[in-house]
Amino acid sequence: MMYVKDIIEIFENKYPKSLAYNWDNIGLIIGDGMSKVEKVLVTLEATQAVVDEAVENKVDLIITHHPFIFKGIKKINKSTTKGNDIYKLIRNDISLYSSHTNFDIAFDGLNDEIVKRLSLKDVQVLDYTFEEKLYKISVYTPASHQDDMRKAMADVGCGNIGNYSDCSFTFNGVGRFKPLNDSNPYIGVKNEIEAVEEVKIESICGESNLSQAINKIIKVHPYEEVAYDVYELKNTGKKYGLGRIGKLQDTMKLKELSAALKELLNIESLKVTGNLEDDVKKIAVVTGSGVEFINKAHTMGADVLITGDVKYHDAQNALELGIKLIDAGHFGSENIFADIVLQYLQKEFKNIEILKSKSNIDPFVII
Ligand SMILES: [Zn+2]
Repeated sequence: MMYVKDIIEIFENKYPKSLAYNWDNIGLIIGDGMSKVEKVLVTLEATQAVVDEAVENKVDLIITHHPFIFKGIKKINKSTTKGNDIYKLIRNDISLYSSHTNFDIAFDGLNDEIVKRLSLKDVQVLDYTFEEKLYKISVYTPASHQDDMRKAMADVGCGNIGNYSDCSFTFNGVGRFKPLNDSNPYIGVKNEIEAVEEVKIESICGESNLSQAINKIIKVHPYEEVAYDVYELKNTGKKYGLGRIGKLQDTMKLKELSAALKELLNIESLKVTGNLEDDVKKIAVVTGSGVEFINKAHTMGADVLITGDVKYHDAQNALELGIKLIDAGHFGSENIFADIVLQYLQKEFKNIEILKSKSNIDPFVII
């Protein structure tokens, strides 16, 4: 049986909460980590129609990109749409989880998905926001349990160094301890010093996985008291940030890129600034509302910035700067959220049903 907390744990392995901007409101917004989950609904946002869809389909958990509650609310009752939605979710025991700027920033999030669909190369982060702290974990375990312990640590993301996983170092030695009166020792006798052939396993771990790693070590370890040490390192961890910039495999005309993007994002229309016949090669991507990164994209040599929610004066500014803009719409550039999450959860959880919302639609209609 799966619980909401199990899904969140796996989800946050890939899309850690620590990557979000501090103004954001993410995580489990409604519900209970201990609720059972058989059905999950993924959607860019939970509108009234999506809440109804979840109730009709007897969904246990909704995962959204846009935070379901963003600003503070003082009343929850049926007289407002939001109050009514919250009331309905709770009455139907539906939990709701949001992953927003952390999902934009994380590797394999929204921006990387567009990069992948466009097959960009030499991809870099557009605007760095976060550098992960690294820790070394040392754990002392009986030699007989060392394989299980190394596997458990690797499973929660310890020992990832560049293109290598499962990195660790093991020392052999002898562990000594005296179980006291109130103990219940796995090995040894009360009030006698015991000597056990033990190993010390050391591995590296990022801040986002640290508490998960410690929990796992304690769970897998056979002793009732687990000896482990955690050291903060001066080594530089992974750097994360918003937006991506990379090069197309081959130079394209702006109109060709625009047409390709419409197809790749499955959208009917987009708005473009700049001469459609111009060649473009270096592409910056910021999904949602990302036009504020126009100067950054320009400085980094982008020919085009792909984003959404572009206003008139931003478009004029882009023309002046000499960088092209493709406005794929806020919905258009981010609706792929549901596809990414659906694919990831299907791979990780074989026994739960994952649905993509049918009622979450672009509020704009092109006529
Ligand atoms: Zn958005």
